[in-house]
Amino acid sequence: MKIKILFSLLLLSSFPVSAQLHVFACEPEWGALSQELAGDTINIYTATSGLQDPHHIQARPSLIAKARQAGLLVCTGAELEIGWLPLLQRKSGNAAIQTGAPGYFMATDYVRLKDIPAVLDRSLGHIHAAGNPHIQTSPHNILRVAKALSERLQQVDAENTALYQQRWEAFKQRWQLAIEKWQEKALPLKGVAVVVQHDNWRYLFDWLQLKKVATLEVKPGIPPTVGELNKVINQLKASPAKMVINANYQPARATDWLVSKTGITKVTLAFTVGGNEQSKDLYALFDDTINRLLKANQ
Ligand SMILES: [Zn+2]
Repeated sequence: MKIKILFSLLLLSSFPVSAQLHVFACEPEWGALSQELAGDTINIYTATSGLQDPHHIQARPSLIAKARQAGLLVCTGAELEIGWLPLLQRKSGNAAIQTGAPGYFMATDYVRLKDIPAVLDRSLGHIHAAGNPHIQTSPHNILRVAKALSERLQQVDAENTALYQQRWEAFKQRWQLAIEKWQEKALPLKGVAVVVQHDNWRYLFDWLQLKKVATLEVKPGIPPTVGELNKVINQLKASPAKMVINANYQPARATDWLVSKTGITKVTLAFTVGGNEQSKDLYALFDDTINRLLKANQ
């Protein structure tokens, strides 16, 4: 018996299988997109959950260990992960995922960013100096990133090029059909006035033409003061809004305060895949987002 095991081990070692590509996804949307584009061909580790605030993540030893194994880093970029990713890269000692290497993929490099500040003043909170990085809230952005990510997978894992190409074509077709369906369904949302807690949904609003009339966080990332909230209430007297939107990773204090003062409808959305029970994958995330907005608009 022992000899048999030894023999099969020898057999295995004489036919080396090439190592599976390990992908380190910073946020769930990129883990989910990698899954769509590569299936089980790769090993995906997603560093954060849909209930965590991606602006503030601890570079824990377990994350460093995963970064060490990665052949490809798939993150948002545009400074979203500035507080933790550079540290992970450095501590991992992994040349494959250093900035500029083929294993370093930043989704925002493939999307035109909005809200790039004309004047940079860090005292205004975590200001997103490179522009609004929350690109995953538009499915058009997802498609642009998907194309670039598929090409990158083909580059770093050339052996599976045919599979990646085939999966990209299939994804593109299915996703474009889904976009048409979402757009049609979301037509009643066109022009609807909304308030947000943080500027999380800039790209979603532009896509569906919702009208943002106020942001509760005057300084992005910093809870608003009562004075600032009162200003929003006055603003809403002049231009009323139908709903106030927050993400379910955010403490809802400011949103709840506004609801208690104005009776405005509160909508809590998943910010990414896994942000609530319904949003199990990228398709379900957009289904759920539109369903919740439509319900609040009734
Ligand atoms: Zn932000």
